[in-house]
Amino acid sequence: MKSLTIGVLALQGDFIEHEAMLRLLGVETRQVRLPEHLEGLDGLIIPGGESTTMGRLAVDFGLIEPLRAFGKQKPVWGTCAGAIFLAKDIHRDQPILGLMDIVVERNAFGRQVDSFEVDVVIPALQVVDPDPRPFRAVFIRAPIIEQVNPPAEVLATLEDGTIIAAQQGHLLATSFHPELTDDLRFHRYFLHLVEQSRLRRQPAGQQVSGNGR
Ligand code: GLN
Repeated sequence: MKSLTIGVLALQGDFIEHEAMLRLLGVETRQVRLPEHLEGLDGLIIPGGESTTMGRLAVDFGLIEPLRAFGKQKPVWGTCAGAIFLAKDIHRDQPILGLMDIVVERNAFGRQVDSFEVDVVIPALQVVDPDPRPFRAVFIRAPIIEQVNPPAEVLATLEDGTIIAAQQGHLLATSFHPELTDDLRFHRYFLHLVEQSRLRRQPAGQQVSGNGR
C-alpha cells in the first residue's frame, strides 16, 4: 500500500511542529498554501496560530472552497486556531470552514490563564496505545468547544467538564496543541482515522498496485 501523505496548512502558525511530528511517524508531509497543493493528500492538519489571519489568507489564496470540499471527503484535524477554523459557529464574523457541528468560543480561558498545561485522560487514544496514561494538553490563548452537536462527539474534557476535543467522523478538533509535546499519540490517532478513511474510499480489492505488476 502506498505510504500516507499528509498536508499541513502552511499559511500561518505552527505548521513546522506538526510536520516534524508526522515525519517522526514516517509519513510524507506537504505544506499547503494553494488549492493545487491539496491534490492527492490523504489528510490535512490545520495548525494553531491566529484564526483571523489564517482565515483572511485562506480567502486571499482561494482556499476556502477547496478546503471545504477536501474536508467533506478526507480527514482534517484542527488544533487550536485550526479547531476554530473547522467550526460551524464561533459567535463572530470571520472566515471559517464550517465543517464541524461544534460551537467554539475564541480565547475563552481568559487573560489570567492565557497559557497553561494540564494532564487529561483521553480514552480514544487507547485505539493506538493501550497504556491509559494521561496526555499533557498545552493551551495557548485557547478556544473552548462550547457545544458539540450530533453527529459530532466529545472526545475529551477537563475535570470541570470543559470540552477540549471533538470528533465528527473523519474530522477532529482539539483546543490544545499536541504538536508542542513529545507525545505522538494524538498524531497517531489522526493517522488511524486517515487510514480508516482511505480504506473506506478504496476497498482492499480495488487497490491499484503502485509498481504496475
Ligand atoms: N487565540 C487564537 C485564535 O483565536 C488561537 C490560539 C492558538 O492557536 N494557539 O485564533
